[in-house]
Amino acid sequence: VTSFWCEHAWLGGDQVRAGVLVEVEGDSIVAVERAATSPAGATRLSGVTLPGLVNAHSHAFHRALRGRTHAGGGTFWTWREQMYALASRLDPDRYLALARATYAEMALAGITTVGEFHYLHHDTDGRAYVDANAMGSALAQAAADAGIRLTLLDTCYLHGGIDRPLEGVQPRFSDGSVAQWAERTAGLASTPLVRHGVAIHSIRAVTPIEAGQVAGVARARGQVVHAHVSEQPAENQVCLSAYGASPARVLADAGAVSERFTAVHATHLVTGDAAQLAPATVCLCPTTERDLADGIGPAAALTAAGARLCLGTDSHAVIDLLEEARGVELDERLGALRRGVHAPSALLRTATAGGAAALGWPEAGRIEAGSPADLVTIATTSVRLAGTPPEALLAGIVFAGTAGDVTHVMVGGRTIVSEGSHVSLDVPGELSRAIAAVWA
Ligand SMILES: [Zn+2]
Repeated sequence: VTSFWCEHAWLGGDQVRAGVLVEVEGDSIVAVERAATSPAGATRLSGVTLPGLVNAHSHAFHRALRGRTHAGGGTFWTWREQMYALASRLDPDRYLALARATYAEMALAGITTVGEFHYLHHDTDGRAYVDANAMGSALAQAAADAGIRLTLLDTCYLHGGIDRPLEGVQPRFSDGSVAQWAERTAGLASTPLVRHGVAIHSIRAVTPIEAGQVAGVARARGQVVHAHVSEQPAENQVCLSAYGASPARVLADAGAVSERFTAVHATHLVTGDAAQLAPATVCLCPTTERDLADGIGPAAALTAAGARLCLGTDSHAVIDLLEEARGVELDERLGALRRGVHAPSALLRTATAGGAAALGWPEAGRIEAGSPADLVTIATTSVRLAGTPPEALLAGIVFAGTAGDVTHVMVGGRTIVSEGSHVSLDVPGELSRAIAAVWA
């Protein structure tokens, strides 16, 4: 048993607790106790220790777009052309290097589990690689090298739009049919740090019948299923004119919405959609949604309907789960002219247990006996948090803390970030080299 003494720790309530001893055996927490001072032999964690943060929606390769797509005008759709140009440049080796660097940046930000919405699974000519899961294996290796948990959400993507063929780079995303997608993804093995789920890219890329089939595969395998839902008004319009209903309604009618379903974005919901998504989780990605001028998702209406929330950094415009968490509340304030809809503890739950459950790790995201030993420690001595009294630390971290305040990160009992540095990777160097190689 290894002991960690937390100066402060968040155990799920409205405030942090002072003096918490966390005992770890193997990869799990076995005991959590009060201890006013650090016992002999315990590792001291100064600051506030939280459960590991969970990034429930990532496209790792988008990290190579950072800085290149934010200035000037354009729309989601012109951004997508830039993203497609990047997607045409990746092979398994380049993707491994880029994803390893991106996941290591996540580790430095206190993210201990990532959900990778993975659709770049075929070669540039649309054919399967000799190892049909070479790209997925690269992502699993990348997560292992960075030291974080991965849920690989292997994505079914079959059409270039409703009644539109695949074009340009899109054949890379397609297996040709649900049956072939299911066959390719059938044999993917889990490890202690990797689990598998599935994704329906969107109602643009999969028909309602196919969406129902993908959800059926997930059900049979006992896996979670994610889908992009109503990110853009144009998606709603084509869906409405083709199927006479909104994307949320179409997916619900197809049998895809359940307690194992996560709707990503759910920004442009129409009347009745929140009720359709009530059994499910909604993944908000505020920093991406604001970057792409997508809009503000109706988080309060969704939670009022009963839906759970989680968070994703999606396009990696920034990688900072605290920024995503406060974005949910602060965007709501700007949209509704009302403060205090989402409490700091609720926002931290979306950043931890909410995401863990959505990614098929229901035992994770909390500091208690039986949970995986995934811990992140936030320094309270930075200029951002210095002077915050103990009773305000939770709100201080959520509303003013940043990824740069993360000092110590543990995944499954193994330290991967110490004193703000990754224990085995030069993360800025890895990012520079991987991104330069992609654009060379
Ligand atoms: Zn996405």
